[in-house]
Amino acid sequence: RPPLDRPGATRIFVVANQKGGVGKTTSTVNVAAALAQLGQRVLVVDLDPQGNASTALGVDHRRGVPSTYDALVEGAPLEEVSSPSPESENLFVVPATIDLAGAEIELVSVVARESRLRKAIHGHPLVGSADEVGEDRFDYVLVDCPPSLGLLTLNALVAGNEMMIPIQAEYYALEGLGQLLETVEMVRAHLNQGLEVSTILVTMYDARTRLAAGVADEVREHFGDQVLKTFIPRSVRVSEAPSYGQTVMTYDPGSPGALSYLEAAREIATKGAPTR
Ligand code: ADP
Ligand code: MG
Repeated sequence: RPPLDRPGATRIFVVANQKGGVGKTTSTVNVAAALAQLGQRVLVVDLDPQGNASTALGVDHRRGVPSTYDALVEGAPLEEVSSPSPESENLFVVPATIDLAGAEIELVSVVARESRLRKAIHGHPLVGSADEVGEDRFDYVLVDCPPSLGLLTLNALVAGNEMMIPIQAEYYALEGLGQLLETVEMVRAHLNQGLEVSTILVTMYDARTRLAAGVADEVREHFGDQVLKTFIPRSVRVSEAPSYGQTVMTYDPGSPGALSYLEAAREIATKGAPTR
């Protein structure tokens, strides 16, 4: 397979779904690691106080380490709070500490509280177009959101150009999506015209069940081209990897989960940023 072209400017992805356990964090870290393996320069911003993305990418997120909290609440420059991930020389992480749990409330009284993350990401010297930033630029920024539609997720929606919604191929998969899409419309109307729901990723797909196939059909009917052709299979290797501080891309590169995430990353890169 030929190497991937880099996008002409940083693509900023918000990975969101207010439901917990649908594969947001797993998809963020594995798509990020896969893109990095494919030669893309990637920054992951962990926006969930649980810090699961930081753990999976092998980055310290104990209280006191420079983190997303410092950028959001204290206004610290993002380049001062990011760390390299041992996964790849192309991959960097802004970790989330438990302090971020308080940010949802602390931000309420802060000026321009919904655009703090936008300011931080767009202010990063390596975010922008090839002309502005050059070869060292980040090709992708992926923001892993918490399972809610509060001020943290709102900050991500205001910061991003694209949204990736992971959908678990299970009962009630589409439940709550209406509320999520209404929030996106509200953000587009008032806060960030540039936001596009570019990518729907079906996760934890079990090809043996009619249920999963039915859910996938329904998702395709609803979202059409936005749905990636690659589905991520349910696989125990995917769920084991974080306990080794690794993504499945490193933990078991030949496994179906790793190969699917590689294919999904290739699809995202090949489709390119949405044009309007
Ligand atoms: P979210 O971030 O949306 O809450 P996670 O990514 O943390 O969801 O996933 C929820 C749980 O499902 C985790 O325990 C994770 O390891 C597991 N999981 C995610 N994707 C897969 C998969 N493809 N196969 C098996 N387990 C998975
Ligand atoms: Mg998560």
